[in-house]
Amino acid sequence: MEFSNKELMQKDINYIWHPCTQMKDHEQIPIIPIKNAKGVYLYDFDGNKYIDAISSWWVNIFGHSNEYINNKIKDQLDLLEHVILAGFTHKPAIDLAEKLVKITPDGLNKVFYADNGSSAVEIALKMSYHYHLNVNDKRTLFLSLSNSYHGETIGALSVGDVELYKKTYKPLLLKCIQTPVPKDQTLQSANDALLSLENILKKDGSSISAFIVEPLVQGAGGMHMYHEEYLRGARELTKKYGIHLIVDEIMTGFGRTGKMFACEYAKIEPDFMTLSKGLTGGYLPLSVVMTTDNVYNAFYCDYNEFKAFLHSHSYTGNTLACTAAIATLEIFEKENTIEKNVELSRHMKKNMARFDNLKNVKNCRILGMIAVIELTEIDVKKRVGLKIYEYALSRGVLVRPLGNTIYVMPPFIITKDEIDTIFDTIYNAIVEKL
Ligand SMILES: *Cc1c(COP(=O)(O)O)cnc(C)c1O
Repeated sequence: MEFSNKELMQKDINYIWHPCTQMKDHEQIPIIPIKNAKGVYLYDFDGNKYIDAISSWWVNIFGHSNEYINNKIKDQLDLLEHVILAGFTHKPAIDLAEKLVKITPDGLNKVFYADNGSSAVEIALKMSYHYHLNVNDKRTLFLSLSNSYHGETIGALSVGDVELYKKTYKPLLLKCIQTPVPKDQTLQSANDALLSLENILKKDGSSISAFIVEPLVQGAGGMHMYHEEYLRGARELTKKYGIHLIVDEIMTGFGRTGKMFACEYAKIEPDFMTLSKGLTGGYLPLSVVMTTDNVYNAFYCDYNEFKAFLHSHSYTGNTLACTAAIATLEIFEKENTIEKNVELSRHMKKNMARFDNLKNVKNCRILGMIAVIELTEIDVKKRVGLKIYEYALSRGVLVRPLGNTIYVMPPFIITKDEIDTIFDTIYNAIVEKL
């Protein structure tokens, strides 16, 4: 039986409560049922197609229905789909862990599996606190950057700093402190922010367990970018005060910024790294927390000393998800993805030049495959982002601005022509709709 968009939308509204959505909006704005997808294109039930310019919330790095990943999952499916990871293991989990240890910064030698980004953040926080406890150094505070985003479970929300998501739940959250993020990409603002960090550490350093950062780009906080010197300085200072540095590469990891991991720009060795999103090429939920032998060894002792890390999720290290992740990493090797991204990034940058002349545009910036067009402060109640979203969608492009910030984060398999289409559409949206 064939369905139309309209029939499915109505059924959807009857049953589904959508994420990050005021459901009443959908009295006016249609929900689009997607029937199938290939490469950068999504197809709905009425035969319309849309370029997925945001990689479906930043996960789908090699496009949809990627033949290589599809085949690897199909092969694995007939062997083993999932097995408990306590007391048991499986080949994809082992192979993936080995690969991750090889490609991440030196010192990150242990892989702890989970199944989504927020959980990975929770795990890193718990491990850091527990590590200090195990070495008789109780530290109950976490430090993070202003304007940061680390997920939306209670612990992850606590270290985040995006008011829109956080303010309602403040009475429930952990005690955390924020230090100012560098205000722009200049070296000067990195150094200014390091001074603030040092002042906080001088005062509270001995009670802080970990400092968690999104390296170089703060995603949900409006794709805010800062200079790599800040990461180098933060690594030095945290070391000096015995504080763990957690690098949350959930959004920036896997080639998004023009290197495999954003912290490679600063050549730092963090104590923890959290990964998810692009990890499985956008196929299946999976996340990891990577850490050092030093952290691992602080938990390693006889059972009755009760120092083990007793944390688990039902789907931890799912076999099919690990298989998708291995296939994803193999594509990076086969296709020289990082090099190709540099070229695509250059092409996106060329496309951005003309936006500087638009009166409603405040700032344009780009790092790797993250291109940002930030509009001038227009009253949020006017919902400019929503207007851009609707306009672009009607012309076959999916963008999902964060407030007044329009960003393009396409799958890495996108062509230059498709990039042009995306930027032309955004340009026309700004000219015609604002
Ligand atoms: C998306 C994101 C998370 C949360 O991941 P989920 O899988 O959505 O829970 C955490 N940190 C960063 C930097 C993210 O971009």
